[in-house]
Amino acid sequence: MPEFLLKSMKKKPPSTAKKMFLIVAPLSVLYNWKDELDTWGYFRVTVLHGSKKDNELLRLKQRKCEIALTTYETLRLCLEELNSLEWSAIIVDEAHRIKNPKARVTEVMKAVKCKVRIGLTGTVLQNNMKELWCVMDWAVPGLLGSRIHFKKQFSDPVEHGQRHTATKRELATGRKAMHRLAKKMSGWFLRRTKTLIKGQLPKKEDRMVYCSLTDFQKAVYQTVLETEDVALILTSSQPCTCGSGQKRRKCCYKTNSRGDTVRTLCLSYLTVLQKVANHVALLQAASTSKHQETVIKRICDRVFSRFPDFVQKSKDAAFETLSDPKYSGKMKVLQQLLNHFRKQRDKVLLFSFSTKLLDVLQQYCMASGLDYRRLDGSTKSEERLKIVKEFNSSQDVNICLVSTM
Ligand SMILES: [Zn+2]
Repeated sequence: MPEFLLKSMKKKPPSTAKKMFLIVAPLSVLYNWKDELDTWGYFRVTVLHGSKKDNELLRLKQRKCEIALTTYETLRLCLEELNSLEWSAIIVDEAHRIKNPKARVTEVMKAVKCKVRIGLTGTVLQNNMKELWCVMDWAVPGLLGSRIHFKKQFSDPVEHGQRHTATKRELATGRKAMHRLAKKMSGWFLRRTKTLIKGQLPKKEDRMVYCSLTDFQKAVYQTVLETEDVALILTSSQPCTCGSGQKRRKCCYKTNSRGDTVRTLCLSYLTVLQKVANHVALLQAASTSKHQETVIKRICDRVFSRFPDFVQKSKDAAFETLSDPKYSGKMKVLQQLLNHFRKQRDKVLLFSFSTKLLDVLQQYCMASGLDYRRLDGSTKSEERLKIVKEFNSSQDVNICLVSTM
């Protein structure tokens, strides 16, 4: 900051805040908010979250800060105490969470005593227009009338007008309703699109890279396909052998010998094949859905009984086995991509839906001597910011493994 600006600033801010603002955000971005506030202003900010929140509440009661940052969860826990303070405005990040009138989060947000309510969201309409009503009714109570009024006046005509079977009349009514709604909201709704900051964003290029299965993956895939269960699934639409004229899955072949229905098996086997296609090691991990877990475990045990070598190796030396690209076509391609990017000194973000796959990638990074960072659901929020900063600033850290869950 230039000297003359520093001088023109008041040396000490007034000891008590004149106005206080409450910002509610998901935990995953709470510290980003703190960081941005510190970057762009001289606010006294307190983060109301976790074990220290009682101290912070005390500071707020003494009006020692201007901004309180908190999570939806903490707000719920401290609602009474926060309501005893006078807020000039409440700003809610990811406000589309207030979409269901019956949900607890909505009840809590509506119970916050503050007349100026600002909601930020990238998706105000996720599923249907009733959600829009709920968010707007929190921000500006009464603006769109009651829920029943809104349904009759706006959401029903608009939704009917959007049906592909809509008559010309319905289409026109729908458009008119949409127009009225836009007009009603215009003073309360600010839309900002990416084009505003287009100049600041780097150019994006999407490239799809196809990865073929390795021989090992193909063998495992084939083994899965050759099971009785898969035969049951593949023939389930054929006419039943008993001559009833029904489809097999609705007649004598509803379940396999263990009583699993064709539908359950279908989902389980899709999961198994997807795992094989990503990395065979994923079959050894417990599935996320309890319901399918046992079915999948049984399938995997049966498949792996054909590959005792792999099982033994991954027991003896899980580290090398899992990170060996021969077990995954995607890993093979990734290995080459990473080598390329490393030479270019490019930064790489590696996303995966599965934390187990992140484990495998992490092992690969360690085995290859790559300096990496990792962000997943278990990363503490304070830690997150540190990791992001290190990744952005350090020359040596070129890879960050991120879970998309
Ligand atoms: Zn039959």
